Amino acid sequence: MTFDYDDRNIFARILRGEIPNSTVFENDHALAFKDIAPQAPVHVLVIPKGPYVSLDHFAAAASADEQVGFFQAVAEVCRISGVDEGFRAIANTRSHGVQDVPHFHLHILGGTRLGRMLP
Ligand code: C5P
Repeated sequence: MTFDYDDRNIFARILRGEIPNSTVFENDHALAFKDIAPQAPVHVLVIPKGPYVSLDHFAAAASADEQVGFFQAVAEVCRISGVDEGFRAIANTRSHGVQDVPHFHLHILGGTRLGRMLP
């Protein structure tokens, strides 16, 4: 599998500061911001700063520092958001996963009891 990253996507533009976002946390390797169309009381997207199209691309190609930095951001988002009673993490991937934005992003959803979600 080859992964082709197109830096015209909207999250690349957010990372370049061309489009505003509601940042909740940032470190050297990741940015976390509120989803513009929240599907739950807490709905945050965590994205790596590097050019990765999907979860499997990130897992295969990102450096150890990038991966650690990304998951440290996930941990901070969970702490800041107060989702102690639980949450859901989703990485929609390519067409079967109905991924709209081709820059890897992890949805963190919580703040309420979520409905069951299986295909
Ligand atoms: O389907 P996918 O996981 O790619 O969804 C992309 C998400 O990015 C959507 O939940 C959408 O609301 C969000 N989004 C955003 N800010 C933008 C554009 C999209 O939070 N400027």
